[in-house]
Amino acid sequence: MSVAANLAQARGRIAAACARAGREPAGVRIVAVSKTHPAEAVAEAVAAGADAIGENRVQEAAAKRPAVRAGTPWHLVGPLQRNKARLALEVFDLIESVDRGDLADRLETLLAAGRPGRVLPVFLEINVGGEATKSGVSPADAPGLAEHLSLRCPHLRLAGLMTVPPWNPDPERSRPHFAALRTLAAELAARLGVAGLELSMGMSEDFEVAAEEGATWVRLGRALFGERRPAP
Ligand SMILES: *Cc1c(COP(=O)(O)O)cnc(C)c1O
Repeated sequence: MSVAANLAQARGRIAAACARAGREPAGVRIVAVSKTHPAEAVAEAVAAGADAIGENRVQEAAAKRPAVRAGTPWHLVGPLQRNKARLALEVFDLIESVDRGDLADRLETLLAAGRPGRVLPVFLEINVGGEATKSGVSPADAPGLAEHLSLRCPHLRLAGLMTVPPWNPDPERSRPHFAALRTLAAELAARLGVAGLELSMGMSEDFEVAAEEGATWVRLGRALFGERRPAP
């Protein structure tokens, strides 16, 4: 199936999940995660109306973005090294994977020296499953990192939380992790006095459960583009 047909099908499944949960489907936007797929596939997703493009490697995104029509925001969904921060700021409109104070400080320094008035929306990546091998800040350390951003990083705007729960073939196993992210977001919003935080959760296997649990962004790779391509 084409990317457009896959996107339409995903929107239908999101609408059904939202109906079950009593939510408006327009409240769930789709990040089309195009890693390993060529710029032509990204262009198809943009033409089909994906709400954002997601990439997990800075250099790969930098190579593709010039070939894709402007107007759709690009999100970094993978881990960011400090030495790639400058390029990441050129390529991405939103960084979903902020998980450390030193990374936030690096972005802050670059933004303060860059285009006047630019404020970068960021999500904190939360390691909800407490997996040692995964990036993300622990739920316990998230309030401290959120406060660090609000006190020390005026060029970063904390706009949401992102998570990748422990992998499991049964999407129901993701549900408690998604619910935990929603609870943490409500706590942080109250603590920081902000109106609400976006919730980026749910991938190809479990996005319907995520929509039921309050996702405002789902990140879809294989559901839109098919299996990932092997590295050239
Ligand atoms: C690859 C990736 C996705 C998309 O994964 P699929 O299972 O292919 O939908 C979502 N989020 C992150 C952080 C990713 O790296």
